Amino acid sequence: MADYLGDGLKQKEMFDELTGIYNRQGFYRYTRDLLNQNPAIQFCLIYWNIRKFKVINDLFGRETGDKILIQLAQSLKDVIGGENATYGRVERDNFICCVPDEVIQRGEWLKLGDVTYDAEGSEYHFFSCCGLYKISNPSLTISNMVDRARVAMETVKDNYLKPYAWYDESMWGAIVEEQKLISDFKTAIAEKQFKVYYQPICRTSNGEVAGMEALVRWEHPERGLISPGMFIPLFEKNGFISILDRYVWNEVCCMQRGRIDQGIEVVPISINVSRVEFYNQHLCEDIFNIVKKYNLPTQLIKIEITESAYSDNPQMVQEAVKKLHEMGFVILMDDFGSGYSSLNILKDLPIDILKIDMKFMDDIETNQSASIILEAIIRMAKWMKLKTVAEGVETKKNWEYLKSVECDLVQGYYFYRPMPEPQIEELFHRKADNTNLIQKDDSLELDDVIMDVFGRGNSRESMLFYSMLGGMGVFEMTQDSLEVIQVNKGYYEAIYGDSEKQTAEVSVLNKSVEEPERSILMEKCRLSREKDHVEQVQLHHKREDGSYVWLNVKVRYLGSRGKRSLFYFALDNIDEMKKIEQERYLLNYSEALLKVYDKVYRLDYDTGQAEVLHTCGKDQMQIGQKYYFFDFFDRFSEGIDYESKINPADIIKDRALLDQELEKSENGSFPVSYSIKREDTDIMGVSALFFKVKLLKGEEEYICCIKRRIREK
Ligand code: C2E
Ligand code: CA
Ligand code: CA
Repeated sequence: MADYLGDGLKQKEMFDELTGIYNRQGFYRYTRDLLNQNPAIQFCLIYWNIRKFKVINDLFGRETGDKILIQLAQSLKDVIGGENATYGRVERDNFICCVPDEVIQRGEWLKLGDVTYDAEGSEYHFFSCCGLYKISNPSLTISNMVDRARVAMETVKDNYLKPYAWYDESMWGAIVEEQKLISDFKTAIAEKQFKVYYQPICRTSNGEVAGMEALVRWEHPERGLISPGMFIPLFEKNGFISILDRYVWNEVCCMQRGRIDQGIEVVPISINVSRVEFYNQHLCEDIFNIVKKYNLPTQLIKIEITESAYSDNPQMVQEAVKKLHEMGFVILMDDFGSGYSSLNILKDLPIDILKIDMKFMDDIETNQSASIILEAIIRMAKWMKLKTVAEGVETKKNWEYLKSVECDLVQGYYFYRPMPEPQIEELFHRKADNTNLIQKDDSLELDDVIMDVFGRGNSRESMLFYSMLGGMGVFEMTQDSLEVIQVNKGYYEAIYGDSEKQTAEVSVLNKSVEEPERSILMEKCRLSREKDHVEQVQLHHKREDGSYVWLNVKVRYLGSRGKRSLFYFALDNIDEMKKIEQERYLLNYSEALLKVYDKVYRLDYDTGQAEVLHTCGKDQMQIGQKYYFFDFFDRFSEGIDYESKINPADIIKDRALLDQELEKSENGSFPVSYSIKREDTDIMGVSALFFKVKLLKGEEEYICCIKRRIREK
């Protein structure tokens, strides 16, 4: 990078758009001026990197990340702005300044890179690490000096206990190495020193090769085999990566073409696309053109995009994925689960295959939550129609475990290490005799409904799902369990009534459906799967607080994989409907009773009222009228004459007594006759019959029927 940029460069190009302080060019230029104008002053460079900056972006969003960068730039302005100094942002979360040594002595710089972020009342602290370089030789290029400070910073980047380090000459070696790799690059490309290795990706079920990943190596004439970890980050910084990536893609396509021409079986090969590629507008066309140059179907090349590419630059990645899909490429999300944005990615990015980060394999045996997360990822992937690949499978035990959780594909040293092309040829020759390497894709073909419902990567549709009226969700059924995998807001409304409160307090996800509903629903699920139509059932659901709600549940089969099947369900609260239905039932019933009796009452012991269900109409009473029966008889208490042992006035007041009599009786009813003497009129003889009617599930009503006989005085 040029150290001094001519005056032709516009002012605007010297400043960082986001923070308003110098960018790399501006910093190089004005620091050169600063040093030239102050030959007597001893200057130092400080190079900051915000620790875990990616996490800030992922947890709080890019806007917050930007705010933090602006905040840091502001504190540089505040603290060293008045000094004889320069400062700028050189890339992403890396800041730099050049200050007189005396500023360093004062020590304020120590806190400069630390930022406090206030997120709705909670404070988060982010710390930086930094490297310092005392400018001992002002004739060096500024870029060279910055490299020294940066290399010093890199020695403490992963060491939380050490916030900074001074550059010393022992670190020079690292810079020289880097410089050397950079200066060797062009020759290496020209001489084809970069070699593409291939690592097979296997089906978990039987270990058969289903595809391969292309991984680059540098066969350096002096230094031997260099692994990509040594040079890729370097080339990402200086831009060579785009040359290297295209070189690799060419090699891969060339090999695929060769295999087709020779009539050898071909499997799809995944290529890696560096995260910095997504700043290039022509990325998709570049890939497409290479694939077409070799006249290959796009299905033979799959594209790996790392999770970090997405968090760096979500919009560009989204656009690229869309374009690549249209071109027919399958997209893999590489290193899934290594960052914090994983779940958001699934929501927003329509990828096809998840490559689960290697760290899960390291952790599953020692860390229980790692295996819980891994299983949840795999299950979630399944209903989103995504296949899963586990990376870093090193042992048989790993493999067995992945089989048990039904991960689709595996990649790792246990199966194959990355191999150069000749070795791959050999492998395929060996296998060609008896196995057909291209097999029919056996991925779960879910009904498109699930896509509509959950809107894989389509937030408009998933919003639609969540705000849809009525409860909806997805069940997963195995041999003996039924679990709720996803629900919308309406589900909570239907089940709990008050959605706002309940969604916050109760999570139903991954909850098993319990008996007695489980058997009923599982039966419906099986029927719906067998007949492939919608099944329906009404359930009297017991809530956690003991109350009941009537639900109408519709079940529809979506698809199966192995022993697991998925069902879409919709449910409605039909309490009101049920009440009306019961009412009608009761009315029909009491109408029939009226053929024998004059009046039919419903006794409500909770309110102490008798409601007229039917009347023959010989008096003023009307259907629906209610009377307090506690004082009903009291009006006549003097004149009641009854034949039975029990006073009818007591029985109507005392539910327990009535229950007791009903229990004793053979036919579940209790008859009683009495007469009321009234001085003014005739003697009124009354026969009453008490009994209970069972309504739908669990509810009963007490009924009292009365027939009057008028007798002579
Ligand atoms: P990656 O894409 O995640 O690739 C997987 C890495 O894991 C490879 O390292 C592979 O050799 C290694 N690996 C495979 N199986 C196992 C295992 O069982 N245990 C362990 N511990 N490691 C295993 P490699 O080849 O060193 O590549 C490192 C990274 O460099 C890759 O990570 C990828 O990000 C990048 N890379 C490699 N080739 C290219 C390329 O052509 N272009 C770009 N842009 N990046 C590349
Ligand atoms: Ca990869
Ligand atoms: Ca990976």
